[in-house]
Amino acid sequence: MQAEIIAVGAELLTPYRQDTNSLFLTDRLNRMGIEVTRKTIVGDDRKQIAGTFAEALRRAELVISIGGLGPTEDDQTREAAAEALGRRLRRDEAVLREIQERFRRYGRAMAPVNERQALVPEGAEPLPNPNGTAPGLWIEADGRLLVLLPGPPRELMPMFLGQVEPRLRERAGDRRLLTRELRTTGLPEADVEQLIAPIYTRYEGVQTTLLAAPGEVQIHLRAWTRQPEQAARTLDELVERITLALGRHVFTTQGEALEEVVARLLNAHHATLALAESITGGLIAQRLTSIPGSSSYLVGGIVCYSNEVKTAWVGVPGELIRQKGAVSAEVALALAQQIRERSGAALGLGITGIAGPGGGTAEKPVGTVFVALSDGRRALERSAHFPGDRERIRWQASQLALDLIRRYFQFPAGQH
Ligand code: AMP
Ligand code: MG
Repeated sequence: MQAEIIAVGAELLTPYRQDTNSLFLTDRLNRMGIEVTRKTIVGDDRKQIAGTFAEALRRAELVISIGGLGPTEDDQTREAAAEALGRRLRRDEAVLREIQERFRRYGRAMAPVNERQALVPEGAEPLPNPNGTAPGLWIEADGRLLVLLPGPPRELMPMFLGQVEPRLRERAGDRRLLTRELRTTGLPEADVEQLIAPIYTRYEGVQTTLLAAPGEVQIHLRAWTRQPEQAARTLDELVERITLALGRHVFTTQGEALEEVVARLLNAHHATLALAESITGGLIAQRLTSIPGSSSYLVGGIVCYSNEVKTAWVGVPGELIRQKGAVSAEVALALAQQIRERSGAALGLGITGIAGPGGGTAEKPVGTVFVALSDGRRALERSAHFPGDRERIRWQASQLALDLIRRYFQFPAGQH
């Protein structure tokens, strides 16, 4: 089954409000095997909404609209649906009683405009709304289905889950969506594309999408199928080939965040970690502590911005900072070794760099980052020169650091 979603509301055409309900609906529909083939946003104009409904119903078996079911003049979805289907609106006495009852329960007087919410197109079935006054509407029309849902997420979500989803599931058919998600770091999007395009373009039944985020490239694989076992094998084979082509740059084939992968590795190895963060200002600690159970591996961290604190709190020799500069491979290494010793953790990580916009030099431009990881016997070091603004540089620096920890565990003997 294929579906279209129509979000109704003038506010959704301004810079101030976004249509988020359709993301929720798309997720729920996809899980049932219903593909969303188009989404439209339309303002509060009855003619335009009616035209949009009529067009969508010509293309798709299922059309779901969001919003415009309120009591006020700008809420035109009911009228537009009636117009698109060539049906009259009638007052539904049961719906009216429910709205009146709701107002009585909360001890408020019902404004006459609320009566509009009891108007339903002929043949439409109202969907009770326990969280608001606007009922939803379920309308069958010539083998097509038009479902009207209220706009507020706290009304739409329970209505969809409780009343719409169970009925849709019965007629959704046996198509299924299977997905996989790989994530890589350390390679620009264009390089990832070049390495894997010759592979994924040969899999015609799989939609492959590359999404670039700061410090990582995500590879989303989606397959719509009636043979889920066969499609799962195909997807797994494609995941394997892509992983082979991208090698150590792939940090997950399960759609995990890098900090989740690092947390899992630290736990699996019963390792503890301490951080000395300059450029990232605690971002690495923040990311790791966002994972439940992080106290089992993260002993703590120090945000050491000034040279004095690098020396007094972490133990980096002042002489080293004067000779090599606070932003240097040597200071990153000393931060890693010293924080490890002072904290008693198995691993120490140190990071320093220039986030900008000021402070860059010809030798060490804005975006320069040095990171080191020490286990007391050996140390891994990395440096990078990241593009972008301050926030982007800091985020990429945190990716580089987390990735260094990942590689320490995943490739203990090899090149990092
Ligand atoms: P309405 O049902 O059109 O009166 O919408 C009521 C409220 O629901 C709006 O003010 C928005 O805050 C919210 N809303 C409407 N449509 C959406 C949407 N597509 N996504 C998220 N929120 C929405
Ligand atoms: Mg509205």
